[in-house]
Amino acid sequence: MTLSPIFDPHSWKLTRQQADLCERVRELATERFAPRANVYDRDATFPTENYRDLADAGLLGICIPKSEGGNGADLKTYMLAAAELGRACGATALTFNMHVSSCLWTGDLLDRLEMNAVIRAEHHEMRRVHYRRILDEGAVYAQPFSEGNAAAAGFKAFGTTALKVDGGWLINGRKIFASLAGHADYYGTLCTGLSAPDDSHLRRNTMYIAVPSDAEGVRVEGTWDTMGMRGTVSRTLVFKDVFVADREQLMPRGVYAAAASRWPHMFMTLTPTYMGIAQACHDFTVAYLRGEVPGTPPVKRRMYPTKQIAVAEMQIMLEQTKALWFQAISEARPDPGKSELMRAWAAQHTVMENANKLAQLAIRTCGGQVIMRSLPVERFYRDSRCGSLMLPWTAELCLDMLGKAALYESGEADDD
Ligand SMILES: Cc1cc2nc3c(=O)[nH]c(=O)nc-3n(C[C@H](O)[C@H](O)[C@H](O)COP(=O)(O)OP(=O)(O)OC[C@H]3O[C@@H](n4cnc5c(N)ncnc54)[C@H](O)[C@@H]3O)c2cc1C
Repeated sequence: MTLSPIFDPHSWKLTRQQADLCERVRELATERFAPRANVYDRDATFPTENYRDLADAGLLGICIPKSEGGNGADLKTYMLAAAELGRACGATALTFNMHVSSCLWTGDLLDRLEMNAVIRAEHHEMRRVHYRRILDEGAVYAQPFSEGNAAAAGFKAFGTTALKVDGGWLINGRKIFASLAGHADYYGTLCTGLSAPDDSHLRRNTMYIAVPSDAEGVRVEGTWDTMGMRGTVSRTLVFKDVFVADREQLMPRGVYAAAASRWPHMFMTLTPTYMGIAQACHDFTVAYLRGEVPGTPPVKRRMYPTKQIAVAEMQIMLEQTKALWFQAISEARPDPGKSELMRAWAAQHTVMENANKLAQLAIRTCGGQVIMRSLPVERFYRDSRCGSLMLPWTAELCLDMLGKAALYESGEADDD
């Protein structure tokens, strides 16, 4: 099936680089990833072949700055391209996001934050180690931060610790839902830096450090037999006295906490996967009602007014979702204003919830024959249900932050 771009370059005024990257990703995703998605989902296996293709296409370094040999995509450019990936295979797009974050956070996001020259030089030296591995050796990075407690929601320091020792760090802890577990070469781990074992756990001491997957003391445990996003293989990671050399730091000490508070849009990188699924629900419904889905009888259903109304509703929901999301990613910057931040939360909530609403509408509108596992819609339904659970900006937390921000200005409190 030939698909037009989710964001038409002319209508949405994309730059040449944005249009080119989106097209390259769309072609790869449509030709290779969409046909394989069903198998990874059915078997809950990691999309290894897709990663080989992404490496061959030179896309593992999509967010590595051009000065370092990568494609140099900034936050918005990456988000637009990643949506095309999500349209074909949610699990590939979501895991790719974990990999890309290691480059985006250390690249575009930190490059757009002021930093003193010494720390900047230290950071550039650190990130180069990781960029070379990705570009030269095809290394893949995961991004485990969740621990099943308030840390991933941003309310307290990570329980996983990095204790300073001679020549490096000793990592201890446990990360749940670690996508790419057992498949990544490095786990880009968020943990609390300690100078001594009895130091207090402070959020400002958060470290971002790459743990080699073959380091002694790293263990993958548990199973990953889930309702949706089955190909992400997000099993539990256990770190027991894992020694990690200093050169594995992805950022200098203290930089992550400042970046996370000044660059809140960084948490929106989980959305393009679901923006792509939302589009895929619409693509499928239109093709199915026209009798054009390969492998199904060429029966047309488009002449029924109820189907037409349902498709119109889907179209409206999709356009609303795209417009809000596009605006939010277009205004992403360090230290956003209050209304920009509120729009980012609103966009996150909208994409995550609407992707699943569109999947529901797709099933109801197309009819019973599309719930077969041989067709992608029931996978869209299951995968999209996972979006609003993703910390730190779950749908609930977005509502929570939005409600408070709408009713209170900074520093305001109630007497009773
Ligand atoms: C398919 C998939 C892939 C994922 N991949 C990764 C990955 O690669 N890396 C990673 O780190 N994580 C990943 N996640 C994890 C994700 O972000 C969540 O951490 C995960 O869904 C499990 O969270 P939980 O059940 O502990 O969350 P919750 O119980 O929802 O939240 C954890 C804690 O946050 C606080 N909290 C949550 N909601 C509220 C609220 N409304 N008000 C106040 N406090 C609140 C509470 O303290 C709560 O105990 C993935 C999740 C999914 C679904």
